[in-house]
Amino acid sequence: MSLTLRFWRVRGSVAAPGAATARYGGNTSCVEVAHAGGALVLDAGTGLRPFGEARRAAGELAGPIDVLVTHAHADHLLGLPFLGTLDVAGAAVTVHAAPHVLEAVRAASHSLASPPLFPVPLAQRAAAPTFVALPAEGATLSGLRVRAVPALHPGGAAGFRVEDPATGRAAVYLPDNELAAFEGECGGRRELLEAIAGAEVLVHDATYLPAELPHHRGWGHSTYAEAVRLAADAGVPRLVLFHHHPERDDAALDRVAAVAQGVARAARGAPEVTVAVEGTALTV
Ligand SMILES: [Zn+2]
Repeated sequence: MSLTLRFWRVRGSVAAPGAATARYGGNTSCVEVAHAGGALVLDAGTGLRPFGEARRAAGELAGPIDVLVTHAHADHLLGLPFLGTLDVAGAAVTVHAAPHVLEAVRAASHSLASPPLFPVPLAQRAAAPTFVALPAEGATLSGLRVRAVPALHPGGAAGFRVEDPATGRAAVYLPDNELAAFEGECGGRRELLEAIAGAEVLVHDATYLPAELPHHRGWGHSTYAEAVRLAADAGVPRLVLFHHHPERDDAALDRVAAVAQGVARAARGAPEVTVAVEGTALTV
């Protein structure tokens, strides 16, 4: 069986809606891995609200939801208080994070979803979420095998590899990751490549243009060119550029797509590159 990724929302750092970003979308990270086994969501950015509303429209709002959160920054958590399922008594919402970021994710979630930032304390919602550490060996969530993938980002982060156990088809999600920091003797690039190898698709941070990167060392993000090289080196046939800079409008993202596709054609294995567009789905 195939895996379907639904890109509920694809922007990075802060929501940037408006006419100039209407095509690619202005709301922040939330990707659903659609699967018959249940609802698995990657990150709880502002895209989590429309994900929940779609479940309400489908009559599935009360169903269990597993939310995998990469890290505690606000653009990955602001949708959580607006997930309609939290107001359905008896529903189960579980937030999973890698052990080294779990406490930060839990604290930030309670802060963002409680007074004074939100009117009702998160713990008092009818289906208050539980927070669970993803074991090092991975876990089966909503019928899919999930394990953490190394990421380098200020404050700590992890990506996720999601695999259909029946077919072995896998997707890797790394929305906030500074690939330049993986270079060098102790950079850990080999471990990163091993974690990605064999996947059908890589969804990766492409926040910066190459010309912008020198001014943003240590900010925790990558360029489309670095993402293409990672996909090529790992032998992943499809790359989706993700976590768009809030100031990158639709015309600029069209240019990124064209340039990145040119870079990819010249790379080993010539991975197929697309730029994530909100509201679209990809089946692999
Ligand atoms: Zn982010």
